[in-house]
Amino acid sequence: MITYPHCQNKHINKNGKKSTGTQNYLCRNSTCGKQFQLVYKNQGANPVVKNYVQKALARNCGIQDIKIFLM
Ligand SMILES: [Zn+2]
Repeated sequence: MITYPHCQNKHINKNGKKSTGTQNYLCRNSTCGKQFQLVYKNQGANPVVKNYVQKALARNCGIQDIKIFLM
């Protein structure tokens, strides 16, 4: 059973594949409707990483420095 990590909704549909070949999922919650992947090949698409990078950029960190912290 797959649950969407952000809204804990269990009503998940498969929604095609990304260009990277990983399975894409769609949240069936009518107020959410977000798409997500279980494994992200492009880490910038991972909501957790994206949130971190945006916060770091807002604090004027360089993108190369952020990359080092994420590795
Ligand atoms: Zn959702």
